[in-house]
Amino acid sequence: MFAKRFSELHPYVPGEQPKDRAYIKLNANENPYPPSPEVQKALQSFDPALFRLYPDPDALELRTAIAGMLGCGVTAEMVFAGNGSDEVLSFIFYAFFDSDAPLRFPEHTYSFYPVYAGYYNIPYEKVPLRSDFSIDTDGLLAGRSSGIIFANPNAPTGIFLPLPELRSLLDRYPRDRVVVVDEAYIDFGGETALPLLAEYPNLVIIRTFSKSFCFAGARLGFAVANPELIKALFTTKNSFNHFPVDVLTQRTGIAACRDAQYYRGICAEIMKTRDSFADGLRASGWEVLPSLTNFVFVRKAGLSGKEVYEKVREGGILVRYFNIPGITDFVRISIGTPGDMELLLALMRGLQA
Ligand code: PMP
Repeated sequence: MFAKRFSELHPYVPGEQPKDRAYIKLNANENPYPPSPEVQKALQSFDPALFRLYPDPDALELRTAIAGMLGCGVTAEMVFAGNGSDEVLSFIFYAFFDSDAPLRFPEHTYSFYPVYAGYYNIPYEKVPLRSDFSIDTDGLLAGRSSGIIFANPNAPTGIFLPLPELRSLLDRYPRDRVVVVDEAYIDFGGETALPLLAEYPNLVIIRTFSKSFCFAGARLGFAVANPELIKALFTTKNSFNHFPVDVLTQRTGIAACRDAQYYRGICAEIMKTRDSFADGLRASGWEVLPSLTNFVFVRKAGLSGKEVYEKVREGGILVRYFNIPGITDFVRISIGTPGDMELLLALMRGLQA
């Protein structure tokens, strides 16, 4: 009954959502705080009669609100909105990455990239990280490629690639190939590449509302790029699903854009919690990679990531480990409330090899 292509699928595995008991969930980089007051007002005043009609297929009012919130010369024609940034990424892989040369991305980065490459039959090459786990831009540029993609800050390492290094990569890369920078975690201390869009017509920036905007359950992500590339994403979307962003998410997304100050406040709170949690871990003998995200990537000599995951799970807290050669001794821990992190720190202080 199955198509031949079906047997080739290797799906992405997200952080677990167990139902056996209540856990503190620090395994999916979700935001521990509620969406802004404007979002709550928009929800309360939402007219359910709007469900009868299809939403605006172009999400123009939402894209205009996003452009206004971003500034940096971004206009609505430079924004494409989708059902989470995962969907936006899927359209990007379809529209821009070809089979004539491999797509290049870091060995350890968002693990959905190889899944989409497989889905669309795009050959790819993984480029090892440097010894300090930072992205090797020279390695990404070595050899012919049909495109480059990475997250900045990177996941699951949390490490930010400074903009001068990104600029140098863009300067040395052919302008007729796309470079995608996934800024899912940019609001937690990194510096956005949005100002580079005016200079590099082949740069595509991806953002999500899931992390800094507390919207993981509503599904909203977007791409920012020059209008010609954005048009190609619309063509791709309209060949698959005209209406990826539902009417309720369009309404509440617009409301969220009006509350940028609220979100800056909770991101600052998360960054403060992250830094004091990292200090506490380091003081107890843990190695913590320098993070500019809402998670930390940590290890302790003699302990495997799986062991750490199992031990803290017994204590009622979920973190994420990766069964991937090179990072099996790490766990990735999302930053929750200060109370969540105090509990976890107490559990982790007691862990010995
Ligand atoms: N990019 C990166 C780097 C991520 O970590 C995630 C979250 N798993 C996403 C994109 C997808 O986010 P969403 O689909 O929720 O917008």
